[in-house]
Amino acid sequence: MDFDVLIAGGGPVGLLTASELALAGVRTCIVERLKEPSPFSKALTLHPRSIEILEMRGLGERFKQIGKPVPSGHFASLKTGLDFSALDTQANFTLFIPQYETEKVLEEHARNLGVCILRGHEVLAVREHEESAELVVQGPGGLSFLTASYIVGADGAGSIIRKQARIAFSGTDANITAMLGDVSLENPPESHFYTCENREGGVVIVPLDGGIFRVIITAPHMPQALLHEPVTLEELKKELNRICGTDLGMNSPVWMSRFGNASKLAEHYRSGKIFLAGDAAHIHFPAGGQGLNVGLQDAMNLGWKLAAKINGRCPDWLLDSYHNERHPVGEALLVNTQIQTKLFDFTREGLYLRELLSGILEFSDVNRYLAEQTAALSVQYEADEEMPEHELNGKRLPDIDLTLSDGTVKRLYTFLHDGRFLLAAFGKEPKELSRMPHVRLMQVKAIDSRPEWNGVKAALIRPDGHVAWAVDESMENAEQLIADGICRWCENSHLQSV
Ligand SMILES: Cc1cc2nc3c(=O)[nH]c(=O)nc-3n(C[C@H](O)[C@H](O)[C@H](O)COP(=O)(O)OP(=O)(O)OC[C@H]3O[C@@H](n4cnc5c(N)ncnc54)[C@H](O)[C@@H]3O)c2cc1C
Repeated sequence: MDFDVLIAGGGPVGLLTASELALAGVRTCIVERLKEPSPFSKALTLHPRSIEILEMRGLGERFKQIGKPVPSGHFASLKTGLDFSALDTQANFTLFIPQYETEKVLEEHARNLGVCILRGHEVLAVREHEESAELVVQGPGGLSFLTASYIVGADGAGSIIRKQARIAFSGTDANITAMLGDVSLENPPESHFYTCENREGGVVIVPLDGGIFRVIITAPHMPQALLHEPVTLEELKKELNRICGTDLGMNSPVWMSRFGNASKLAEHYRSGKIFLAGDAAHIHFPAGGQGLNVGLQDAMNLGWKLAAKINGRCPDWLLDSYHNERHPVGEALLVNTQIQTKLFDFTREGLYLRELLSGILEFSDVNRYLAEQTAALSVQYEADEEMPEHELNGKRLPDIDLTLSDGTVKRLYTFLHDGRFLLAAFGKEPKELSRMPHVRLMQVKAIDSRPEWNGVKAALIRPDGHVAWAVDESMENAEQLIADGICRWCENSHLQSV
């Protein structure tokens, strides 16, 4: 076999998936069609949960040096923003960062971990064999056939992996188009998030680096038929003038593009030896800036599970939990963006509705509910039914302060940099750990101001920062439950039978 895992597509999702695999010593190769990274930027935002997962791998500071923190997000570009500053996270902000910068850092990270990246290579076909899977690749030197144990399709919306694996991609086609231009403006608006809306349509303008502004225009009369036609500067100016009464001196476009609201979800995120992640698994109108974020979170869920499988310590139920956990998140993403798309309604009633909702968003509980959803902080995975119930099971953990047994106070995420399981034990070390170097022990004295941790004897924290299970000291046979729980999630499959 040439590699353990082959990844089609070296966008943000392919790059993070590859890094997660390489972190666990898995031989990974990305096959990417583009010779050079794209200089254009679809996404501009990293949301709190994405910042958290990057923090877990020690990349937080690097991203914060490049991006600009903004305390809010938005829902359907309504005038009242989503207040991220009130959320229960250290990353209580949006990081405003062009997608090409995100990709640059992730590519550097992947290369540092030893990921092989074949740029200028296009995947033409994928084949599954009994013992392996294969990519047919067209590169500068001609055709090649690469084999691996598993393949991940992170090859974006038009995914050839998804199509060839015959994974149904169901949903609705586009019936709304919007357009964007990264341009210079002689008379830019003062606001950092400028919106203008009326019966003619809606405009959002945000400043990018180097005196460039992103102008996004959604207008009811822009037909879906135009989706594949290039945008012209004249068209952008005309639409901006129509809606805002001025073209703001628009000139010198750097990038112009058109996008639609097709909403589709892969019915299965896994088919045999093939997995899908990111846009290959879900597409939607880019409302609220969520696609790249959810894709990175897919990668973070898949990487450690697939790595554990390759390393011989992952039961099939755990690998299948990738679909079981992430497919519902994809469904929720589509619903969320479809609701936002409905609100891009610039009829008289639609504008009243937008105003009404904007007012309702002033209520902090409502605002927080939508902010948590958009920030992906409300994602909670199903509790493991084989373990006793506990309110922490399946929950995402923020970067909480821990008082360790030696009295020092440390942040939780600093213990997750190497991508291993973490056993937070309030007491003596369970004996199972001595034969599991891939599980890190953290002996904890206290976790302050977190009542859900009161009485916990041990909790197993997954490499993606969710709680696998927690066992209270009051539970009958607590020590045995802990030992069983460690074996169930982390046991080397060949050790299980010893
Ligand atoms: C206008 C716009 C604004 C957006 N804004 C935001 C935002 O603010 N926040 C946000 O979270 N999301 C946003 N998104 C969505 C975001 O850009 C995508 O969700 C994100 O790019 C998905 O990443 P990915 O790695 O899954 O796919 P992609 O970024 O599409 O990467 C796929 C990669 O696979 C490669 N590839 C494709 N086919 C092959 C092949 N056959 N062989 C080899 N390589 C191949 C491609 O060259 C590409 O590099 C926006 C999207 C649009 C259109």
